This record gives sequence, structure tokens and C-alpha cells, in this order.
Amino acid sequence: MGKQTPDVVIGTVWRNNSDMGTPQSLPILLPTVGGQRWSCHSCGDCCRSLVVHLTADDRERIDAGDWASRLGVAPYLSVKRSWVLNKRSDGACVFLDEQGLCAIHVRSGETAKPLACRMFPFSVRAVADGWQASIRFDCPSVVRSEGEPLDRSTIAIGEVASLLPHRAGRNARLPFLKARVRATEDELTMLTDRLARWLGDRSVAWNDRITVAARLTTTLEYGRIRKVRGRRLAELVQLLLGALPKECGSPPPAPTDKQRGMLRQFAFACSEYTSLDEFRSGAVAKVFIRVAQMRKAEAFRRGDGTVPALPGFSKVVTFDAVESVQPARRDRESIEDLLTRYAVARLESRSVFGAGYYGWPVFRGLGALWLTLAAIGWFARYVACSANRDSLQFADVARAVGIADRAATRLPALGTLAERARLAYLMNDDGLARVIGAYVLVEQAP
Ligand code: SF4
Repeated sequence: MGKQTPDVVIGTVWRNNSDMGTPQSLPILLPTVGGQRWSCHSCGDCCRSLVVHLTADDRERIDAGDWASRLGVAPYLSVKRSWVLNKRSDGACVFLDEQGLCAIHVRSGETAKPLACRMFPFSVRAVADGWQASIRFDCPSVVRSEGEPLDRSTIAIGEVASLLPHRAGRNARLPFLKARVRATEDELTMLTDRLARWLGDRSVAWNDRITVAARLTTTLEYGRIRKVRGRRLAELVQLLLGALPKECGSPPPAPTDKQRGMLRQFAFACSEYTSLDEFRSGAVAKVFIRVAQMRKAEAFRRGDGTVPALPGFSKVVTFDAVESVQPARRDRESIEDLLTRYAVARLESRSVFGAGYYGWPVFRGLGALWLTLAAIGWFARYVACSANRDSLQFADVARAVGIADRAATRLPALGTLAERARLAYLMNDDGLARVIGAYVLVEQAP
């Protein structure tokens, strides 16, 4: 992977809502993650795993296609003041045909599909000066970086974004760096650019890159930086990036039992996406689901005995077996490439802080990104264990990145005060570096 470059404008679309009187050109800001590629390979993963919310226009197009009588079932359902595509009992979208293709696409073309399906695996967020696009790593083709260079997708993203109302609202406000310290645009650009370049620096071992990034973030969060702003903040970051690697000669200390338990609970929280059945469940069923979730979360905190089954997995494994899985040796290069692409894509699309991450301040949001990478380390071990492997392979890490990214920025539970408190605890006592060190994904290069 080459040198990382910051967001650049690589396409424009026309503002769709006419409240400004005349149409305005709006740029699409797409992260330029070095080497990242994507094309749809029609694997059908997204058609099976996602709950697709519909716009009024989506429903009108579906109604006009007379799909209710063609399919023999309701094509969409009303859930919680929203409308979602219906699913079959096996969890697949009712439009997924026997050839694994979208029936709407086959019959009426790509533009007839619901907006969310056309947009996947991209998402867009209205910002002051256009649309901030980001790419999702819960698509297998994104994880494996297969297909066309990313910038070829800009026109398609623009076409879909132009159908959405552009309301930047609070997204237009710059986030806080930390409590009561509002960031400037130059500071955000400096931080994301320097961290992206640091994470892409192959001359440094991956485990050290991520450990340094976590310690840098903790130092900035707890340091007195109120008067260290602008150019001085850039100098401090540069100074820390020069000094912190010297501390990486030996691995971080092992995490305490409490830190390890918190990491497992965070991993569990990331795995808890809401299925369509849960969306539709009544008040009593919801109480039972909530109680079951709390029991599972407690089991993850304790970390002994059997791991409560996670969605999509059926094999019974123990917490001890998960802990015993060794980091990858053989697939080291491809795993480092994937982790770098993932972290850089999150940074450059700014889906780590402010409006891109539950409104969190910058340093807390960065801390959550490093914690997510540690959770990926736990998930990958769980995946390997479920496949009877005692050391990690690329496929394990790929699946783990998909699980974690599906939740990050999209699962409301991850943005709560309880999660901020968990992160605050883990940012103390070198906790982030310690849990990252406990769940490294690749063996340190000799
Ligand atoms: S998960 Fe990705 S590759 Fe698979 S069908 Fe969806 S967009 Fe295409």
C-alpha cells in the first residue's frame, strides 16, 4: 500500500432539493485509500444480512412493479414508523432470486432498486460543502479489495446521493477535540492525515503502528492541550510520533482481568445487530431479548466457560479456546494490508468522530477506532476457533473486520454514555495498548 493521501474531491453531483432556488454543484468526498478496489461480485451477502429501509419513492416503484402478486408475499413491511424490505424465513431478501440475483434489478434495471441497495457498500453523510462518502467493510469484495479502483464508483455514488435531500444541519459543525475544546478544520485535516500516513508506513511493524496510534491518542486526550493549538498541535503530534515508537521495544504489559473483560464486552456489543425478527417483535418479546442480551454481556465480562453463540455462528467454543488462537504468520502481509485499508478508510472518511461517529469528540472517537481494532483481534480468534483453526488466517480477520465495521457508526448502542465510560476506563493505565497487545492479529515480523 502506497502513501496515503487525504480526502480529495473526485466528483460532483447536483443538489436535488430546490429550496435554494437554483441547483448547486455538490462535491462527493471519497477517501482515497491506497490500493482499495471494489466491484459487486453478486455474492448476495448484503441481501441476506442487512435490514433495508425504504424511502417513499422506493415503495412507489415497488408498488408500480406489482411485486406483491409476483412474489406471493408482501415485498415490504412497516416497522417502527419505518418501511423495510421483507425477508424470507432464511433471512434472505424476498427479491433475491434462485440465481442469487436481485429480481428488481433483473426485471427493471439497477435504477429501479431501493436507494439503500444502490448505495451499498457506500454510505454518504451530508456535510457543509457536499457529501462525505465512506466505504463499508461488511462487503466481502471491499474486504478483499477486488474489482475496479474506488474512484470509478464516484459517479454512481453521486447519482444516488443526488436523490437525497442535502441537509447538513449539525453535521456542518466541527467536533470537539476533547471536552470544551472545539477543533479547527486545519487540526482535523492534520490529525487524520498524519495518522493515516503513520498507519500506512510499512517500514514500521503493524503492531507497533497501532500501539503508537493508541498511545498518541491517550496522550492527547489526557494532556493539557488547551493552549497547544494549530501549528503547535501539529508539532506535538510529530514529536510524539517520533518518540513513542521507542517505547515499543517490548510488548505492552498484559491487560488486567477487568480491561480484558471490557474488551470482550465491547466485542459482544459490536456483534449485536438487530435482525428483522427483532425489529418486528412485540414489547414482551423485546423484554426477553433484552434480558438475554444482558446475560450474554455478563458472560462476556466473566470470560469463562462457553462463549454465548454470536449471530451467524453455530459451533460451541469456549473463551479459553478463543484466547489460545495464535496470531497469523503466513497471511501477515494481506492482513496488514486489510487492517491498514480499514483504519485509513475510517480516518479519511471521518467516520471516527463528530457527526461521523455518534457526535463523539475527536480523541475519544479515535480511541474507539483503536478499541475496534482490538475487538477485531478477539473476533478473528473466535472465527478461527469456530473453524477449528489454532492460528489466524486472512479469512478469519476478513470476517472479523466485517462484523466490527457493520456495527461501527451504525449501532446506536455503541454511541451511548456507557460506551464512552468504558472507553474512558480503557484509555487509563495504558489500557488501549494493553488490549491491542493481547489480541494482535499478526505475528511480529522477525
Ligand atoms: S455484499 Fe458486496 S459483493 Fe456481495 S452482493 Fe452485496 S455489494 Fe455485491
